[in-house]
Amino acid sequence: MAAKRIYAFGGGRAEGNKDMKDLLGGKGAGLAEMSNIGIPVPPGFTITTEVCAEYYKAGQKLPKALEPELKAALRKVEALTGKGFGDPSDPLLVSVRSGARASMPGMMDTVLNLGLNDATVAGLAARASNPRFAWDSYRRFVAMFGDVVLGLKPERKEDRDPFEVILDAKKHAHGVKYDKDLPVEALRELVAEFKAEIRRRKGVEFPEAPYEQLLAAIGAVFRSWNNDRAIAYRQLNGIPAEWGTAVSVQSMVFGNMGDDSGTGVAFTRNPATGEDEFYGEFLVNAQGEDVVAGIRTPQKISELKERWPEVARQLEDARETLERHYRDMQDIEFTIERGRLYLLQTRSGKRTGLAAVRIAVEMAEERLIGRDEAVLRVEPEALNHLLRPVFDAEAKAAAVKGGRGLAKGLPAGPGAASGKLVFFAQDAAAWHARGEPVILARHETSPEDIRGMAAAEGFLTAFGGMTSHAALVARQMGKVAIVGCGALEFDYHARTMTVETAGGAKVLKEGDWLSIDGTAGEVIEGRLDTRPSEVMAVLVEGGLEPKDAPTYQRFAKLLSWADAARRLRVRANADQPDQARVAVAFGAQGIGLCRTEHMFFGEGKIGPMREMIVAETHEDRRKALAKLLPVQREDFRGLFLEMAGRPVTIRTLDPPLHEFLPHEEQGIAQLARDTGRTVEEIRAQIADLVESNPMLGHRGCRLGISHPEITEMQARAIFEAACDAAEQGVKVEPEVMIPLVASVKELDDQAGVVRRVAEDVFARRGRKVRYLVGTMIEVPRGALTAAEIARTAEFFSFGTNDLTQTTFGLSRDDTGPVLQTYLAKEILPVDPFVSVDQDGVGALMKIAVAGGRATRPGLKLGICGEHGGDPASVEFCHRIGLDYVSCSPYRLPIARLAAAQAALRERAQESKAGDGSAKRARNGKAKPARAAKASPRRARNAAIAVPRARKGAGRRPRARA
Ligand code: ADP
Ligand code: MG
Ligand code: MG
Repeated sequence: MAAKRIYAFGGGRAEGNKDMKDLLGGKGAGLAEMSNIGIPVPPGFTITTEVCAEYYKAGQKLPKALEPELKAALRKVEALTGKGFGDPSDPLLVSVRSGARASMPGMMDTVLNLGLNDATVAGLAARASNPRFAWDSYRRFVAMFGDVVLGLKPERKEDRDPFEVILDAKKHAHGVKYDKDLPVEALRELVAEFKAEIRRRKGVEFPEAPYEQLLAAIGAVFRSWNNDRAIAYRQLNGIPAEWGTAVSVQSMVFGNMGDDSGTGVAFTRNPATGEDEFYGEFLVNAQGEDVVAGIRTPQKISELKERWPEVARQLEDARETLERHYRDMQDIEFTIERGRLYLLQTRSGKRTGLAAVRIAVEMAEERLIGRDEAVLRVEPEALNHLLRPVFDAEAKAAAVKGGRGLAKGLPAGPGAASGKLVFFAQDAAAWHARGEPVILARHETSPEDIRGMAAAEGFLTAFGGMTSHAALVARQMGKVAIVGCGALEFDYHARTMTVETAGGAKVLKEGDWLSIDGTAGEVIEGRLDTRPSEVMAVLVEGGLEPKDAPTYQRFAKLLSWADAARRLRVRANADQPDQARVAVAFGAQGIGLCRTEHMFFGEGKIGPMREMIVAETHEDRRKALAKLLPVQREDFRGLFLEMAGRPVTIRTLDPPLHEFLPHEEQGIAQLARDTGRTVEEIRAQIADLVESNPMLGHRGCRLGISHPEITEMQARAIFEAACDAAEQGVKVEPEVMIPLVASVKELDDQAGVVRRVAEDVFARRGRKVRYLVGTMIEVPRGALTAAEIARTAEFFSFGTNDLTQTTFGLSRDDTGPVLQTYLAKEILPVDPFVSVDQDGVGALMKIAVAGGRATRPGLKLGICGEHGGDPASVEFCHRIGLDYVSCSPYRLPIARLAAAQAALRERAQESKAGDGSAKRARNGKAKPARAAKASPRRARNAAIAVPRARKGAGRRPRARA
């Protein structure tokens, strides 16, 4: 039997349900589920994402086999509503709605009021006894169809939507401010004028036949999967291009039938702060898009009670039911038609990082969800939001006092941002690209602006509420934002913004500095100083007690639950004691990478380093090294003391020597003086050290092999510092790491030096400390010969930055344009320097894991590339059985949470599949656990067998409420 292409919903039951997002899209699955649990939903049906794939495969043609199913589904809706599609006496109107697996709000298209034409409009008017409403619906339909299906768009970025322009002229001619005040003749004229505009600009007739309209709209919605903004959104959110969208066709209910009708959007909890309050907005006598588009600033949901007490009660019930049923904060769309409530959509609401943490922790405390579930609920990246600075209160007060306070709006995206004012999304992106922080200010934003919004520090709109597009994007991207700031007026042509302030109107131009406080909703002229967030104040800066910091408390609670669930350990990349302190505050269990070269740049260190490099004799080199030894030893000692017994991995010198040499006159002259040589000689030596491919040149272990005395000095500093620390009562276990090893012989050479020095230091000091010698796996040959390397190496740490460069043969420093093109063309799904390329680099890692552990079963494995703080990469590291990930101190909370989620997902998979298939899961047969994050490449690359994770992998967390 051919696969079912259409799933019906409405009338109290549905063929689909909430677990069918892959097939029905999030919207279709939500509509089906709501029908099943007795929430009033207008009847309709969903065409599957598989049909979308068929559509593209056939060169953008709907499959023939769809039609009989489509006609049958329409008949069902006709039966449930008692109306006829195209019936002039009582026409059925439908919406044609997009909806992918992952919610992509506003990125794709939707057409409302489909089925109207010159004949059915009269029937609608008669049935509703309301010609104004009928014609209002018709003009909306023609405009939407013209835009979405026929592609009539503004010509230039400064231009407004062509239908809006005609509409504004009409409002002007009738002297009214709002659409809803236009008389019926005006609406009638609008329909004719819209159609004429389509004919003039597109050279096509607006189709009158409803069935023809429907087929065209379905195709257009499928195509909207590939519009620019949807593609941009997919790239920003890592959504695979092959998913496609479903299409839901749903009978219309009307919020624009008069003053007893309306439409709204609401969240079951506050999406900006997470507070447990019903939060939303509605508009009287309007259709859905009006609220989201931010065209009129809507009323608060709390005001609904006064206007429609019965509807408010029903809506409150729906809030309860949906939140309990989905056990998560829901974002709902509803419409009231003549006093009757209908729900049109429910989905897990997007929220700020602040809200995500609060909602997860509070729901766990309410026992609505378990602790593990709370851990799974928060996107790891969202934790960044809690570290972000806020404006310094005093600086802000002073600015306001000095007359720089401009206006207030709705606080849609918490945090503080200062930047230069721009009015167009394209400019935001361009200015950002040349390194300027910008604040994007507009009337309202639209999905077209998405790239510019991503580039801006924050954004500001004049119109719209907390559910407007701008607010929604702010929550999702974690941007600072203020919306609905009514005091702003824009002149896009002049590139200025006028603000009505208490002290009179103020004009700001493009490029002026502006500050926005997205927590308080305040717009301030100029730049402002910031201060640390609550979490930073407690953990790093000091001066705030945990008991006075509720946000910090929730953050700490969530992370403690995460720590209980994870198997991977977390370490930090840190070279200085103060970095180590931050790392420990953020939960570091060790240092995974101490880069010794950073230590040479400090005061009094670079001089001897340079002397060492240009030394011509062993004797001179030893002299210079003798000066470096005590400084380096002090650095290590400080680090060991700060880490108080936690393991510390120290990498021997890695970068090409040329990087340390002076390039300016003064430095060269100084070096000449210090070494008693001529400037010319020094210049010649610097020139000698220039390499055409320094990243592939004389660096890493190659340096230590040609200059063993460098490794010797470093090893001596490490072991002497370790002995010093031990004498002070701090247990230390240094792990000496040799970089860029491609062959076991290289490692043998360097490990020999390290061990010899260790024995010598121990003998002199009369004490021993435990230590390990290991290597970085960061070139393909190292990974491929890992089994041999592990004969000498006591640990491996994956240097995935270099491993990515060398696996792709792509220099990280020169790839900007290449990567941009590749990402734009979807040749690469994500930047491999941000998220591990699991197919390629990941395959080498698996080979190294397998080889290394085959030779040395207890081999300690970690990662210390930038990827250690990337959630998808952390999950990968968990799956291939590493012991720890190491990342920058500020990314530790993210790594902890990501590691916990990886463990929890794996456990969920195991218990779902039983133990036998859990093993198979690790070997690559099982589906990725979470659809929203999964990509086909994951499933594929698991094809290389991976050794079982070490003991403890299957440890279950304590049972929880
Ligand atoms: P998006 O994914 O951009 O939110 P939707 O498909 O949800 O697009 O449609 C946008 C708006 O159109 C909804 O918020 C809703 O108010 C309105 N809408 C969609 N379908 C219907 C319908 N059957 N009846 C009334 N309004 C509808
Ligand atoms: Mg919607
Ligand atoms: Mg490296």
